[in-house]
Amino acid sequence: MLLKDKVAIITGAASGIGREIAIEYARQGAKVVIADLVLAAAQATAAEIVQSGGLAMGVAMNVVDEAQVDQGVAEVVAAWGGVDILISNAGIQIISPLVELSLDNWKKMLAIHLDGAFLTTRACMRAMIQSGRGGSIIYMGSVHSHEASPLKAPYVAAKHGLIGLAKVVAKEGAKDNIRSNVICPGFVRTPLVDKQIPEQAKTLGISEAEVIKNVMLKETVDGEFTTVQDVAQTAIFLASFSSNALTGQSITVSHGWHMQ
Ligand code: NAD
Repeated sequence: MLLKDKVAIITGAASGIGREIAIEYARQGAKVVIADLVLAAAQATAAEIVQSGGLAMGVAMNVVDEAQVDQGVAEVVAAWGGVDILISNAGIQIISPLVELSLDNWKKMLAIHLDGAFLTTRACMRAMIQSGRGGSIIYMGSVHSHEASPLKAPYVAAKHGLIGLAKVVAKEGAKDNIRSNVICPGFVRTPLVDKQIPEQAKTLGISEAEVIKNVMLKETVDGEFTTVQDVAQTAIFLASFSSNALTGQSITVSHGWHMQ
């Protein structure tokens, strides 16, 4: 029970990586908040966790909506007395050559990944400072926080940006015992990745199997996908770490695709 009674808000937790972190956090004793776009989806994931003996609640939160973020965090504070952990995880992917990318899609990507990280960080930091309990803020970066790939200009720019944000939060948060770190996964088979396999195959003019072997997993040491469990274990490690020694860092989990 590494996270006993810790209140953890996880954005984008109705699917994929965020969902697995929520399940594993609940197993470690955390009270988890499934914050996602559609309330019914957030509540369905929360209900599954409660059925397995965990503590969870669903909250409707579009991370780019300032009022909804502030209200969602206030709801959590009212229900559970504070926030100890934020996992800023909500994200999408848009595959496009830069020269064909619309300004709208560029802005949409930066809004979800960076505005969303900022708004949820601000609301949770305020709650953490108010309670005096400190806290841990974890951003879902990517190997693309360190490396580039073609067709992903706004994603790569945004994921690099999260590293800068995390470093500032580490410096500003220290006096209130707030730590901040970034997890940088390699490719994980979630709906976000399943959607882009055929898209990349079409844009690059290769088969889906070639996208997996020669694009996604080519640089790994063993040709393996990273799993949602791998990322969740890292999120438990970071949130349960007991001092400010580990802050302002990024940790890559990618089967050796990126080595720092
Ligand atoms: P996913 O599509 O399975 O889940 C993303 C979740 O985010 C969904 O539940 C979706 O409803 C939610 N979401 C989208 N926009 C939102 C918004 N504006 N407000 C609130 N919620 C929103 O994707 P995933 O693969 O689990 O991705 C989660 C995070 O991990 C993303 O930030 C992604 O960039 C990052 N990541 C994924 C991979 C991968 O290979 N899957 C690798 C590295 C990093």
